Amino acid sequence: MYPRVRIYLERIRNNASIVAGLCAGHALSVTGVTKVVRGDPKIAQAFLDAGVNKIGDSRVENLARLKGLDAEKWLIRPPMRSEVAALVEHADVSLNSELATIDAINEAAGACGKKHKVILMADLGDIREGYVDYDELLKAAEQVERMTNVELYGIGTNLTCFSFIQPDERKMQQLASLAQRVSERVGREVSVVSGGNSATLDLMLRGGICEGVNNLRLGESLLFGKERAQYRFLPGTCNDAFILECEIVELKEKPSLPWGQIGVDSYGNRPSFEDRGKRLRAVCALGKQDFDAETAVPLDEGIAMLGASSDHLMLDITDSKRSYQVGDIVELKLGYFATLRAFNSEYVEKVYID
Ligand SMILES: *Cc1c(COP(=O)(O)O)cnc(C)c1O
Repeated sequence: MYPRVRIYLERIRNNASIVAGLCAGHALSVTGVTKVVRGDPKIAQAFLDAGVNKIGDSRVENLARLKGLDAEKWLIRPPMRSEVAALVEHADVSLNSELATIDAINEAAGACGKKHKVILMADLGDIREGYVDYDELLKAAEQVERMTNVELYGIGTNLTCFSFIQPDERKMQQLASLAQRVSERVGREVSVVSGGNSATLDLMLRGGICEGVNNLRLGESLLFGKERAQYRFLPGTCNDAFILECEIVELKEKPSLPWGQIGVDSYGNRPSFEDRGKRLRAVCALGKQDFDAETAVPLDEGIAMLGASSDHLMLDITDSKRSYQVGDIVELKLGYFATLRAFNSEYVEKVYID
């Protein structure tokens, strides 16, 4: 059945083991993030096989899919108060920035006789989640330390996700000294100081992460071998772990300029086209609900991606050396958001290759 995505587990194991090795060389542990692949258990297992022993996901439902997996499980988005019961069932750790929610977690954990670990998030400038008032964070740490069913596990930060503020040496030092202050305030050393995501790898490789920061939460780099500051591929990693196959349902020579009066697209933009004469165009049975055209590239270099609607993908195959027929398969190499959509589309079959 098409469309389908071929998932190369060995390439993921390879990437995870290279990146985790680099992190270990800088005294950083890795939490492997599975939100891009909807908490896929086989991919999480590939992380574990590569020596990563903590798994993070932004959705409790995804962590629930990993029930049988022998790993410490982190919810990496602040939990909803409405989900704390499921949270304590499926996650060992969560990233938090609201004391009221942590209170609710404490109660839910007590109700089922569990302990839950809490990491307090500091916002260091990206303006997404986390305390911007660090005194408030310190007070929260003190309160959490007094709770019986939650344990203050450490602190963390997240950058380069909303405002695309980059991690730097100063921000890492700020985080480490905040961790120090938290430890002093509660009278013991907290275990985890989590310095960010795949955007922090470049800084790490330049030796810019100070002592005291001891963890990174990594998704994109483990799956695609890509760090997110310079958007470079790391040496020895693979960027082709996910190949999407789609089927040609129409193949015709057509003019490259549309005809008639042009309107606006669903975002309110007026599209424009270049007259390249008649071109051989393929329509594939794939659409925006299955992938993201901007983060996918055809493996056949002679194919140009023209665009996609919800259920149709338009390709220009004039320059391809292959002669395609209706019913033939076109392969696309998937990047981050294309993979995210493919894993969340029920229409896309998943095929695992070991
Ligand atoms: C998504 C996410 C990550 C992982 O980000 P990558 O860039 O894929 O490594 C880490 N931490 C948090 C809080 C996230 O939301």
